[in-house]
Amino acid sequence: MYQEYAWKKYDKKDLEKLDQFTTNYKNFLSECKTERLCVSKSVALCETAGFKNLEGCTSLKPGDKVYAVNKNKNIAAFVIGKESLTQGLAILGAHIDSPRLDLKQNPVYESDTFAYLDTHYYGGIIKYQWVTIPLALHGVVVKKDGSSVSIEIGENENDPVVGITDLLPHLAAEKMQKAAAKVIEGEGLDILIGSKPLEDEEKDPTKQAVLKLLKEKYDIEEEDFVSAEIEVVPAGKARDFGLDRSMIAGYGHDDRVCAYTSLMAVLDSGQCQRTTCAVLVDKEEVGSIGATGASSVWFENTIAEVIALTEDYTDLKLRKALTNSVMLSSDVSAGLDPLYSSVMERKNSAFMGKGICFNKYTGSRGKSGCNDAQPEFIAKLRKMMDENHVNYQTSELGRVDQGGGGTIAYILANYNMNVIDAGVPVLSMHAPMEIVSKADVYEAYLAYKTFLKNA
Ligand code: MN
Ligand code: MN
Repeated sequence: MYQEYAWKKYDKKDLEKLDQFTTNYKNFLSECKTERLCVSKSVALCETAGFKNLEGCTSLKPGDKVYAVNKNKNIAAFVIGKESLTQGLAILGAHIDSPRLDLKQNPVYESDTFAYLDTHYYGGIIKYQWVTIPLALHGVVVKKDGSSVSIEIGENENDPVVGITDLLPHLAAEKMQKAAAKVIEGEGLDILIGSKPLEDEEKDPTKQAVLKLLKEKYDIEEEDFVSAEIEVVPAGKARDFGLDRSMIAGYGHDDRVCAYTSLMAVLDSGQCQRTTCAVLVDKEEVGSIGATGASSVWFENTIAEVIALTEDYTDLKLRKALTNSVMLSSDVSAGLDPLYSSVMERKNSAFMGKGICFNKYTGSRGKSGCNDAQPEFIAKLRKMMDENHVNYQTSELGRVDQGGGGTIAYILANYNMNVIDAGVPVLSMHAPMEIVSKADVYEAYLAYKTFLKNA
């Protein structure tokens, strides 16, 4: 079902299943605005599906279901296959970090009786998109005694929201002459959080009033922000988009749409020939580095643990398991937007509604930095997608020399496994409100299940 619109193939029963699946996804997206929330929700989904924490396991046998968590920011779910892990796993890898604004370590200040939070943006954002929209605060504050306080402000409809102001058009003549990259600068992304001064307070009375509120509600001091991770994200739930409700608008489709569909594919597929795995990583938007990024040895260590619990462990077995694995790097593609079609080359573009999109390579300027998937591997994928009536398409990220980007594909490919990018096309990627087609969300889920069963 190559390059065909998926909507055409659905009967009434298919549409009911699609509706149920995408409703569940919308709820996941609304609830999971940070990596930590994605992991805790994924743990809950795993446990409901009968998965056990790997930490408590003393041995594993074919058919067993386990999950492992790393630093509250990564999760990997496994179903032990019929054959030895040394034959290789079928892996779905997605990222659960999304572009946003992070609070600095010393964020709170006052100016002209307004209280603000200073931020440093995370990932590739178009800064002018983040002003004059309702924002919410999510994250954790870890105190010196090791206790951790969860913060969530702005999601409940009775909560206040916060946000960034912008200049009125009447006085914006000079500003409107600036290049788009300079209209809103990084240090201009400060969050307005209060305007009511505390009585009898001489120095920074509004800042003190806000700190008093935080002390009362969360028992935190100003200095506790030093060991906090607070993410400023668009407030509100994911919604149906379009009069025909064919799309979903929400924050963080990149890459939670592939994370959710990948995880559910492993949870719903049961035992397969190979051991199946969905791994959700952090830090993709800033280069996949660090202990919780795809470059971390955590995933490799976790596979070593799974091998050691299923058979006699040797280092060679781990290497064989990794090299014989096959992986879909589940990450979103840029959907063709008719308003901006000039940056695309139509024959090699992803169209909303034509199903999961495979990217043989990403990269930029002469494929630089790309994972270029093997044609032998792609041929197998074509066969299994066609035989299982999954709608799929292929694309590049824009016209040659227009720009580019990368994913986690090349990192896992370093183990010598076959990897290809495969995910859902998105409009307005990295904007506070991204858009996906429900058909593509459902086809991605079907494609991932097909891959786990047939790879
Ligand atoms: Mn992505
Ligand atoms: Mn991205």
